[in-house]
Amino acid sequence: MRLILLGPPGAGKGTQAQHLVQRHGIVQLSTGDMLRAAVKAETPIGLKAKDIMASGGLVPDEVVVGIIADRIEESDAANGFILDGFPRTVPQAEALDRLLKSKGLALDAVIELRVNEGALLRRVENRIAEMKSRGETVRADDTPEVLSKRLESYRAQTEPLVDYYAEKRKLATIDGMKAIDEVMADIKRVLDALSESAKASKPARRKMARRAAAKKSAAKSGKANGRVAGKVTRKAAKSAKAKVAKKPAKRPAKTAVRAKAAKKTVRSKVAPAKKTRKSAKSAAKKAKKAVRKSSVARSAARGGRTATTAKKVTKRRAKTPKRLTKRG
Ligand code: ADP
Repeated sequence: MRLILLGPPGAGKGTQAQHLVQRHGIVQLSTGDMLRAAVKAETPIGLKAKDIMASGGLVPDEVVVGIIADRIEESDAANGFILDGFPRTVPQAEALDRLLKSKGLALDAVIELRVNEGALLRRVENRIAEMKSRGETVRADDTPEVLSKRLESYRAQTEPLVDYYAEKRKLATIDGMKAIDEVMADIKRVLDALSESAKASKPARRKMARRAAAKKSAAKSGKANGRVAGKVTRKAAKSAKAKVAKKPAKRPAKTAVRAKAAKKTVRSKVAPAKKTRKSAKSAAKKAKKAVRKSSVARSAARGGRTATTAKKVTKRRAKTPKRLTKRG
């Protein structure tokens, strides 16, 4: 199972993730925890992230995407994982999509824990008090001032993921204001419904796969191709007829010319393969004849014209003044 827990700081993502780890035997991948470990170990990533985290901003996308890409590769993530605190921006979500696709994996669900912002400050204050009473070091970003900055980052950069996953039909929104056990029960209901629908859709998916396989084998044997081609030809012929019929009555000549031209092009494309020497010879003969005819006709025409027009021209020149004749 591969899940994402989405929600503002203090929504209870960490608490719910731990329950899910136990119930489903999957790992929790918290970018916040990983970054804190990197800060503690003073790795190059840690040094880069330290000040950003302390101020409540977001560490650059490529840094967290790199961390997650490496972490998903590890063997304990093979059975599934819960992403907590990642993705936090749309580009991170897109990078995750690409990452999973490249591995042939898919997300099962994105669980959004919706909480009332007024309650968050109280929750974080309680968390600080509890940690102090246990003698633990309090997170550098667990202060009322930094919390408001973290909330701002959430609203501006992470909340758009609610729509992003809703559009992909992956989102389940749960009331995070309820008691921890109730929230757990609600998440369980969502996940149970999901696995039920996955089971129910298995036979349907098998049926679809069988149909697709049958189509493929029919296409291979040529049956389907022939049928489809036949259909297309008839359809094309019908629509061509309809188009001709629809053309305005004023332009029949153009249509006819176009049809002829189309025939010619089709023929000229097809003909070369069929042309024989004989037909080439007879074509050459015909062409010669045509040339002879046309030259006879031309000379006749020339002769005729000179005889009749010469007189007219002389008469006109005689009438017109010289200058005008020159210019004309
Ligand atoms: P929160 O309790 O506010 O949800 P986290 O423990 O998840 O906080 O993360 C703590 C800090 O680590 C964030 O405020 C941010 O600076 C950094 N961080 C964690 N995850 C990401 C992420 N996916 N992208 C960018 N920054 C992150």
